[in-house]
Amino acid sequence: MTYTSLQSPANKDYIYELNMAHLYGNLMNTYGDNGNVLMMKYVAEKLGAKMTVDIVSMGDDFDPDHYNLVFFGGGQDYEQSIVAQDLPAKRSAIARYIENNGVLLAICGGFQLLGQYYVQANGVKIDGIGVMGHYTLNQENNRYIGDIKIHNDEFDETYYGFENHQGRTFLSSDEKPLGVCVYGNGNNKEDGTEGVHYKNVFGSYFHGPILSRNANLAYRLVTTALRNKYGQDISLPSYQDILSQEIPEEYGDVKSKAEFEK
Ligand code: GLN
Repeated sequence: MTYTSLQSPANKDYIYELNMAHLYGNLMNTYGDNGNVLMMKYVAEKLGAKMTVDIVSMGDDFDPDHYNLVFFGGGQDYEQSIVAQDLPAKRSAIARYIENNGVLLAICGGFQLLGQYYVQANGVKIDGIGVMGHYTLNQENNRYIGDIKIHNDEFDETYYGFENHQGRTFLSSDEKPLGVCVYGNGNNKEDGTEGVHYKNVFGSYFHGPILSRNANLAYRLVTTALRNKYGQDISLPSYQDILSQEIPEEYGDVKSKAEFEK
């Protein structure tokens, strides 16, 4: 199903076209995560690309050759258990998309379900799609809620966000984190990692949504998708040209609770 309200305006001259799949967008849509779809569309249009967004949900086919961007948002345990029933039917198509370097952003419940399994707050274990190595355990009567700041050493970029999850995720040896925690709990409060970065898959626990607060990451995702489709040497406007003026650096740096209380 195409989001007609999210179509790029028709009366513009576009150089490129991108197709986005919002996986289970009618079920997995907590905490404003849909803002990530809006942000990718906004950045795409600034880069001269027309964006079409489809919800690909229960019983729908996912065509890995049609889509250039995929978004898989967060959800409550109940919705995750429904979605888990449909995932096996999409497993090989999603695996092919990922192995072919497709760009995918997965938040919280979506991030958990790309992995091996997820243990719900009530202790019930549900299978993930199993296309990535991480797994997620539960915790007793607790959630990780609050502001978080991480640093990605490979890109030398800092990302700011708000986390809200009970699951504790552990990465596999072939997965890198999206960043290391400067403050906040991250994947599991134990190993200092937050999120995942594998090929062009970016997973995170940041809600609120991650991309509107971290335009540098939005730029990375959309430009990677454009280069995958149109060639690595296409010339695109720089981040500084189109986005850096919109989010002043100091905007992101919300102090942690502990820092406020000092
Ligand atoms: N239900 C999952 C958890 O609590 C994911 C939550 C979410 O997507 N916000 O860990």
